[in-house]
Amino acid sequence: MENFYSLSPDKIRGLLEKQGFSQVHFKAVYQYFYQDNADRDKLLQNLPKELIRHLESEYTFAPIAIAKELQSKYDSSVKFLLRLADGELVESVLMPERARITLCISSQVGCRQACSFCHTGRMGLKRNLSAGEIVGQIVTANQWLKDHPPWLQAVRLTESQRVSNVVFMGMGEPLDNVPELVDALKIMVSPQGLSLAPRRITVSTAGHLDGLKKLVSENLGVGIALSLHIPDAKERSRIMPINRRYPLEEVLTYLRDAQTTKNRHFLIQYTVIAGVNDSLAHAEKLAHLLKGIKVKVNLIPLNSFDATSFKQPDPDDLYAFQGLLLRSGIRSMIRFSKGQDIDAACGQLAITSQ
Ligand code: SF4
Repeated sequence: MENFYSLSPDKIRGLLEKQGFSQVHFKAVYQYFYQDNADRDKLLQNLPKELIRHLESEYTFAPIAIAKELQSKYDSSVKFLLRLADGELVESVLMPERARITLCISSQVGCRQACSFCHTGRMGLKRNLSAGEIVGQIVTANQWLKDHPPWLQAVRLTESQRVSNVVFMGMGEPLDNVPELVDALKIMVSPQGLSLAPRRITVSTAGHLDGLKKLVSENLGVGIALSLHIPDAKERSRIMPINRRYPLEEVLTYLRDAQTTKNRHFLIQYTVIAGVNDSLAHAEKLAHLLKGIKVKVNLIPLNSFDATSFKQPDPDDLYAFQGLLLRSGIRSMIRFSKGQDIDAACGQLAITSQ
C-alpha cells in the first residue's frame, strides 16, 4: 500500500477528482493528517465516509517507526534511528535552539557521492527515500514532541511546539533524488500540510548542478546550502568526487546568475579539516571564489569519527581562517555541531545504522 504521506497537494487533488469527490475536501484531508492541533473530530465529521473508506483501503498512515533514540547530555539534541517499511534504516536529529526546533533529515539510505570525510558516504547508496519517507521523518518527530512534554519543558519551549525548521543535512545527497524531494517540499510548505515557512527549510547539496537547476526552477523559495568544503579544484575532486562531474566553478557561476535573476541568498557550508583545507591559502582562495556572491559561510570544525584519518582543526587555525574571510568582506560564522556525544553531528550519521 502506498504511504499517504507521499501524496503531494497535486496528487491529493488528482485523487479526489479521479474518485469523484469534490475538491472542497482537500483542505480537511490534509489538515486531518498533518496538523495535530486541528479539531480532528470536526474535520472527520465533515468528510464523506466513502472518502475515508477509500483512503483507509488504499494507503497506510503509519508514521515511521523509531527503532532507537539517543539524547545528548550536553545540548538535549535527540538522534532517531528510523526503521522504514522495508527494514532499511535512516537517521534524523532533533535540535532545540532558542525558540525553534530544527530537524535534520535524510533524503536517501546511504549516499553515492562518497565524500571521503563523511561516514554516510562510506555506506554507498542503497536507495532513494520516497516523498512519504522524507515527510514521514517530520511527522514522526512531531509525534515524538507531542508525546514528550517534559523534554519541551526542559528546553524551555511550550508544549505545543513542533518542528519549525528543517535542514536536509542528514544521510544522502538530496539533489540525487529531485522528484521525491520536490514532492516532499510541496507537502512541507503547504498551509494545510506541515505549514513550514519555505525560508525555514534548507536543502544542502555537495554541488549537484543539474539537481540545483531543477530545484531553483520550482520556485519554492527554500534555502539552499552548498557544501563547498575545498576551494581548490584538484583537491576538491580528490575528496569530493562530485566535483569531477560538476566543477565547483560552474556551480558557483550558476549560483551567481541565479542570485542576480532571483535575488536569492545562499549558504556555504565549509567543514574545516586539519591539514586538508584549514590553511590561510585555502581561506584566500575561498574568499576569491566567493567574490561578488551574496553568501554566508558556516565554518564547521570536522567531527572526527573513529574510522577516519581526518582530524579536527586547531582552534587557532580555525579563527585565523575566519578572520581572513571577515577581512575580505565575507560573512562567516563558526558553527559547532550539536549532538557530538551521540554521533549526531555533521558527517557522523550512519554509525548506528550499520
Ligand atoms: S557529505 Fe553529503 S554528499 Fe558527501 S557523501 Fe556525505 S551525505 Fe553524501
